[in-house]
Amino acid sequence: MRKIAIYGKGGIGKSTTTQNTVAGLVELGRKVMIVGCDPKADSTRLLLGGLHQKSVLDTLREEGDDVDLDEIRKEGYGKTLCVESGGPEPGVGCAGRGIITSISMLEQLGAYDESEGLDYAFYDVLGDVVCGGFAMPIREGKAQEIYIVTSGEMMAMYAANNICRGIQKYAESGGVRLGGLICNSRKVDLEAELIEALAESLSTQMIYFLPRDNMVQRAELNRKTVIEYDSDCEQAGHYRSLAKAIDENTNHVVPTPMKNDELEQLLVKFGLYG
Ligand code: ADP
Ligand code: SF4
Ligand code: MG
Repeated sequence: MRKIAIYGKGGIGKSTTTQNTVAGLVELGRKVMIVGCDPKADSTRLLLGGLHQKSVLDTLREEGDDVDLDEIRKEGYGKTLCVESGGPEPGVGCAGRGIITSISMLEQLGAYDESEGLDYAFYDVLGDVVCGGFAMPIREGKAQEIYIVTSGEMMAMYAANNICRGIQKYAESGGVRLGGLICNSRKVDLEAELIEALAESLSTQMIYFLPRDNMVQRAELNRKTVIEYDSDCEQAGHYRSLAKAIDENTNHVVPTPMKNDELEQLLVKFGLYG
């Protein structure tokens, strides 16, 4: 089983991209579990046709440790298995720790057992801040392969670089590797070239360039992935291609993050800064 975490700046498109890619993997015949690791608990909405009714942490709070797997894991589009970790009580506790509690609970309940036949577990992790909490899935070896969603916008690239610092820190001890950058376009000039250059500096690859397309919003309003909503549209084809690229990817590296001024120089080089 491949355990993949998707990181990136808030609002960059992690949840949308993860679910659409998972829908593409399902078409390739893969069995996938997706675990939302954002207190917003919206990582599985498009696969479930609405928000997950019960997060792991809410269930634990309400019912104690005696939890049934079926209570916290729902079947969604294409027999995907959907879990939302949820968050701590607002103002109390560490969100990152909550994620580990949830994953440990799933492990105890047998969600990762061989008999489940999983090909993939995906973690959709809130990741503006690479604090100790949100680095937990990397740190504790829960995720082995990381993809970073970014665009050509400065803050998204800045976050991507920071996330690489987090990965690098735990790569030697925990064996976690970076699989690539997914460029989710914001229609910045020379965006593909810029993210290619960023990827090269980080010793990784741009695994895919996803165009910006209103079809994503249309599908979202209907609580569906693009692949389910309009299977023949162009954007559905892009998500299929990304799914295939991840499925076939063998380029797993320890990233080489840049210093902040090197990142700024990159933007200057592309005429986007100063
Ligand atoms: P995150 O999980 O990183 O916080 P989301 O996946 O919730 O971000 O995406 C934020 C918004 O961006 C969503 O409402 C979604 O509709 C939109 N979005 C994401 N990717 C695309 C795209 N390729 N084209 C158009 N809109 C997109
Ligand atoms: Fe929040 Fe991160 Fe601090 Fe945990 S470590 S409380 S997730 S900021
Ligand atoms: Mg999200």
